[in-house]
Amino acid sequence: MRLLLKSMIAAGLLVSAVPAGHAVPLLEPTLRLKPHEDAATPPRVALTLDACGGKTDNRILSALVENRIPATIFVTGIWLKRNAEALEIMKAHPDLFELENHGGHHVPAVDTPRKIYGISTAGSPDAVAAEVEDGAAALAKNGQPAPKWFRGATALYSPSAIALIRKLGFKIAGYSINGDGGSLLSAKETARRVAAAKDGDVIIAHINQPTHAAGEGLAKGLMELKAKGVNFVRLDDADGEGTDDTTD
Ligand SMILES: [Zn+2]
Repeated sequence: MRLLLKSMIAAGLLVSAVPAGHAVPLLEPTLRLKPHEDAATPPRVALTLDACGGKTDNRILSALVENRIPATIFVTGIWLKRNAEALEIMKAHPDLFELENHGGHHVPAVDTPRKIYGISTAGSPDAVAAEVEDGAAALAKNGQPAPKWFRGATALYSPSAIALIRKLGFKIAGYSINGDGGSLLSAKETARRVAAAKDGDVIIAHINQPTHAAGEGLAKGLMELKAKGVNFVRLDDADGEGTDDTTD
Protein backbone atom coordinates (compact mmCIF):
# COMPACT_ATOMS: atom_id res chain seq x y z
CA MET A 1 0.00 0.00 0.00
CA ARG A 2 2.79 2.37 0.89
CA LEU A 3 4.49 1.68 -2.45
CA LEU A 4 1.25 2.24 -4.31
CA LEU A 5 0.70 5.50 -2.47
CA LYS A 6 4.23 6.56 -3.30
CA SER A 7 3.79 5.86 -7.00
CA MET A 8 0.46 7.68 -7.02
CA ILE A 9 2.10 10.73 -5.52
CA ALA A 10 4.92 10.45 -8.07
CA ALA A 11 2.30 10.39 -10.84
CA GLY A 12 0.83 13.59 -9.48
CA LEU A 13 -2.23 11.97 -8.02
CA LEU A 14 -2.82 13.30 -4.56
CA VAL A 15 -5.03 11.27 -2.35
CA SER A 16 -7.67 13.67 -1.16
CA ALA A 17 -8.49 14.60 2.39
CA VAL A 18 -12.03 13.27 2.02
CA PRO A 19 -12.73 11.11 5.09
CA ALA A 20 -12.13 7.38 4.87
CA GLY A 21 -14.96 4.89 5.16
CA HIS A 22 -15.66 4.75 1.43
CA ALA A 23 -14.20 2.04 -0.74
CA VAL A 24 -12.44 4.19 -3.33
CA PRO A 25 -10.14 7.06 -2.40
CA LEU A 26 -10.80 10.13 -4.51
CA LEU A 27 -8.06 11.73 -6.58
CA GLU A 28 -7.18 15.40 -6.98
CA PRO A 29 -4.89 15.56 -10.02
CA THR A 30 -2.18 18.19 -10.20
CA LEU A 31 -1.29 20.00 -13.41
CA ARG A 32 1.80 22.06 -14.19
CA LEU A 33 3.25 23.54 -17.34
CA LYS A 34 6.60 22.16 -18.40
CA PRO A 35 9.49 24.27 -17.10
CA HIS A 36 11.28 26.52 -19.55
CA GLU A 37 14.45 25.23 -21.14
CA ASP A 38 15.69 28.79 -21.49
CA ALA A 39 15.92 30.27 -18.01
CA ALA A 40 16.11 33.81 -19.44
CA THR A 41 12.51 33.80 -20.68
CA PRO A 42 9.78 35.22 -18.41
CA PRO A 43 8.00 32.81 -16.05
CA ARG A 44 4.76 31.36 -17.42
CA VAL A 45 1.64 30.88 -15.30
CA ALA A 46 -1.76 29.53 -16.36
CA LEU A 47 -4.80 31.10 -14.70
CA THR A 48 -7.85 28.83 -14.66
CA LEU A 49 -11.16 30.12 -13.30
CA ASP A 50 -14.23 28.07 -12.52
CA ALA A 51 -17.70 29.38 -13.30
CA CYS A 52 -19.62 26.73 -11.36
CA GLY A 53 -23.03 28.42 -11.30
CA GLY A 54 -24.25 31.65 -9.75
CA LYS A 55 -23.18 34.96 -11.23
CA THR A 56 -20.06 36.67 -12.58
CA ASP A 57 -17.45 38.51 -10.54
CA ASN A 58 -16.95 41.60 -12.68
CA ARG A 59 -14.03 42.74 -10.51
CA ILE A 60 -12.13 39.78 -11.96
CA LEU A 61 -13.54 39.92 -15.50
CA SER A 62 -12.76 43.64 -15.89
CA ALA A 63 -9.27 43.23 -14.41
CA LEU A 64 -8.53 40.52 -16.98
CA VAL A 65 -9.85 42.58 -19.92
CA GLU A 66 -8.24 45.87 -18.83
CA ASN A 67 -4.86 44.27 -18.17
CA ARG A 68 -4.97 41.88 -21.13
CA ILE A 69 -4.54 38.81 -18.91
CA PRO A 70 -5.55 35.59 -20.69
CA ALA A 71 -7.40 32.91 -18.74
CA THR A 72 -9.00 29.52 -19.21
CA ILE A 73 -12.59 29.63 -17.92
CA PHE A 74 -14.27 26.37 -16.86
CA VAL A 75 -17.99 26.93 -17.38
CA THR A 76 -21.02 24.76 -16.58
CA GLY A 77 -24.25 24.56 -18.55
CA ILE A 78 -25.95 26.24 -15.57
CA TRP A 79 -23.59 29.21 -15.58
CA LEU A 80 -23.88 29.67 -19.36
CA LYS A 81 -27.68 29.92 -19.08
CA ARG A 82 -27.56 32.62 -16.39
CA ASN A 83 -24.63 34.78 -17.50
CA ALA A 84 -25.30 35.83 -21.10
CA GLU A 85 -23.75 39.26 -20.60
CA ALA A 86 -20.45 37.94 -19.21
CA LEU A 87 -20.37 35.32 -21.96
CA GLU A 88 -20.65 38.08 -24.58
CA ILE A 89 -17.69 39.89 -23.01
CA MET A 90 -15.63 36.67 -23.09
CA LYS A 91 -16.67 36.00 -26.71
CA ALA A 92 -15.65 39.55 -27.66
CA HIS A 93 -12.10 38.76 -26.48
CA PRO A 94 -11.24 35.39 -28.02
CA ASP A 95 -7.56 36.27 -27.66
CA LEU A 96 -8.01 36.38 -23.85
CA PHE A 97 -10.60 33.76 -22.97
CA GLU A 98 -10.57 30.05 -23.63
CA LEU A 99 -13.78 28.37 -22.46
CA GLU A 100 -13.54 24.78 -21.28
CA ASN A 101 -15.85 22.15 -19.79
CA HIS A 102 -16.86 22.28 -16.09
CA GLY A 103 -19.83 19.92 -16.66
CA GLY A 104 -23.50 20.32 -17.47
CA HIS A 105 -24.89 20.59 -13.95
CA HIS A 106 -21.89 20.95 -11.60
CA VAL A 107 -22.08 17.38 -10.36
CA PRO A 108 -18.82 15.80 -9.08
CA ALA A 109 -17.34 13.28 -11.55
CA VAL A 110 -17.39 10.36 -9.15
CA ASP A 111 -19.13 7.20 -10.37
CA THR A 112 -20.31 5.89 -7.01
CA PRO A 113 -22.99 7.59 -4.89
CA ARG A 114 -21.58 9.72 -2.05
CA LYS A 115 -21.34 13.35 -1.01
CA ILE A 116 -18.38 15.73 -1.37
CA TYR A 117 -18.57 19.05 0.50
CA GLY A 118 -22.31 18.34 0.75
CA ILE A 119 -22.77 17.91 -3.03
CA SER A 120 -24.12 14.58 -4.30
CA THR A 121 -21.82 12.92 -6.83
CA ALA A 122 -22.89 11.79 -10.30
CA GLY A 123 -23.09 8.30 -8.76
CA SER A 124 -22.71 6.07 -11.83
CA PRO A 125 -20.53 5.84 -14.97
CA ASP A 126 -23.51 6.86 -17.13
CA ALA A 127 -24.16 9.93 -15.00
CA VAL A 128 -20.46 10.94 -15.15
CA ALA A 129 -20.57 10.62 -18.95
CA ALA A 130 -23.78 12.69 -19.08
CA GLU A 131 -22.21 15.44 -16.92
CA VAL A 132 -19.18 15.63 -19.24
CA GLU A 133 -21.19 15.48 -22.46
CA ASP A 134 -23.84 17.97 -21.28
CA GLY A 135 -21.08 20.46 -20.44
CA ALA A 136 -19.60 20.11 -23.94
CA ALA A 137 -23.06 20.37 -25.53
CA ALA A 138 -23.79 23.61 -23.62
CA LEU A 139 -20.58 25.15 -25.00
CA ALA A 140 -21.46 24.03 -28.54
CA LYS A 141 -24.97 25.51 -28.15
CA ASN A 142 -23.34 28.85 -27.30
CA GLY A 143 -21.20 28.80 -30.43
CA GLN A 144 -17.97 27.83 -28.68
CA PRO A 145 -15.31 25.54 -30.12
CA ALA A 146 -15.30 21.95 -28.83
CA PRO A 147 -13.67 21.89 -25.37
CA LYS A 148 -10.52 19.82 -24.86
CA TRP A 149 -10.22 20.03 -21.08
CA PHE A 150 -12.61 18.87 -18.37
CA ARG A 151 -12.62 19.85 -14.72
CA GLY A 152 -15.27 18.20 -12.57
CA ALA A 153 -17.16 19.99 -9.81
CA THR A 154 -15.01 19.97 -6.60
CA ALA A 155 -11.99 18.89 -8.76
CA LEU A 156 -12.13 15.43 -7.13
CA TYR A 157 -12.59 12.25 -9.15
CA SER A 158 -12.82 8.52 -8.69
CA PRO A 159 -10.01 6.74 -10.63
CA SER A 160 -12.52 4.99 -12.91
CA ALA A 161 -14.23 8.33 -13.67
CA ILE A 162 -10.85 9.77 -14.74
CA ALA A 163 -10.42 6.86 -17.17
CA LEU A 164 -13.93 7.40 -18.50
CA ILE A 165 -13.45 11.16 -19.01
CA ARG A 166 -10.26 10.46 -20.96
CA LYS A 167 -12.09 7.90 -23.08
CA LEU A 168 -14.60 10.62 -23.94
CA GLY A 169 -11.67 12.62 -25.35
CA PHE A 170 -10.95 15.12 -22.57
CA LYS A 171 -7.80 15.96 -20.66
CA ILE A 172 -8.24 16.38 -16.91
CA ALA A 173 -7.62 19.95 -15.79
CA GLY A 174 -5.79 19.67 -12.49
CA TYR A 175 -3.90 22.56 -10.94
CA SER A 176 -0.88 23.29 -8.77
CA ILE A 177 -2.06 26.32 -6.75
CA ASN A 178 -5.43 26.51 -5.01
CA GLY A 179 -5.74 30.30 -5.25
CA ASP A 180 -8.98 31.02 -3.43
CA GLY A 181 -9.92 27.86 -1.47
CA GLY A 182 -13.22 27.44 -3.29
CA SER A 183 -13.70 31.25 -3.22
CA LEU A 184 -13.93 31.11 0.59
CA LEU A 185 -10.53 32.60 1.52
CA SER A 186 -9.96 36.20 2.58
CA ALA A 187 -8.81 38.79 0.04
CA LYS A 188 -5.41 38.92 1.74
CA GLU A 189 -4.77 35.17 1.71
CA THR A 190 -6.01 34.82 -1.88
CA ALA A 191 -3.71 37.63 -3.04
CA ARG A 192 -0.79 36.01 -1.18
CA ARG A 193 -1.35 32.57 -2.74
CA VAL A 194 -1.83 33.92 -6.27
CA ALA A 195 1.17 36.27 -6.09
CA ALA A 196 3.34 33.33 -4.97
CA ALA A 197 2.90 31.53 -8.36
CA LYS A 198 6.14 30.47 -10.02
CA ASP A 199 7.04 29.41 -13.55
CA GLY A 200 4.84 26.47 -14.62
CA ASP A 201 2.12 26.90 -12.02
CA VAL A 202 -1.55 26.39 -12.87
CA ILE A 203 -3.76 28.49 -10.57
CA ILE A 204 -7.36 27.55 -9.82
CA ALA A 205 -9.83 30.18 -8.53
CA HIS A 206 -13.47 31.18 -9.06
CA ILE A 207 -15.13 33.85 -11.20
CA ASN A 208 -18.71 33.18 -10.09
CA GLN A 209 -18.84 34.65 -6.56
CA PRO A 210 -19.06 38.45 -6.91
CA THR A 211 -19.93 38.95 -3.22
CA HIS A 212 -16.91 37.06 -1.82
CA ALA A 213 -13.76 38.84 -0.66
CA ALA A 214 -11.58 36.31 -2.49
CA GLY A 215 -12.34 37.96 -5.86
CA GLU A 216 -10.76 41.21 -4.75
CA GLY A 217 -7.67 39.31 -3.59
CA LEU A 218 -7.43 37.42 -6.86
CA ALA A 219 -7.40 40.66 -8.89
CA LYS A 220 -4.72 42.05 -6.56
CA GLY A 221 -2.55 38.91 -6.75
CA LEU A 222 -2.75 38.92 -10.55
CA MET A 223 -1.60 42.56 -10.67
CA GLU A 224 1.41 41.60 -8.55
CA LEU A 225 2.28 38.75 -10.92
CA LYS A 226 1.89 41.06 -13.92
CA ALA A 227 4.18 43.63 -12.31
CA LYS A 228 6.79 40.88 -11.86
CA GLY A 229 6.70 40.22 -15.61
CA VAL A 230 4.84 36.90 -15.53
CA ASN A 231 3.62 35.71 -18.92
CA PHE A 232 0.03 34.38 -18.55
CA VAL A 233 -0.90 31.48 -20.80
CA ARG A 234 -4.08 29.53 -21.43
CA LEU A 235 -4.22 25.77 -21.28
CA ASP A 236 -4.61 25.49 -25.06
CA ASP A 237 -1.54 27.70 -25.63
CA ALA A 238 0.44 25.50 -23.28
CA ASP A 239 -0.88 22.31 -24.85
CA GLY A 240 1.95 20.18 -26.15
CA GLU A 241 4.35 21.88 -23.79
CA GLY A 242 2.19 21.30 -20.76
CA THR A 243 2.04 18.08 -18.83
CA ASP A 244 -1.07 16.45 -17.54
CA ASP A 245 0.58 14.57 -14.73
CA THR A 246 -2.21 12.05 -14.49
CA THR A 247 -1.62 10.47 -17.91
CA ASP A 248 1.03 8.02 -16.63
ZN1 LIG B 1 -17.05 24.37 -9.74
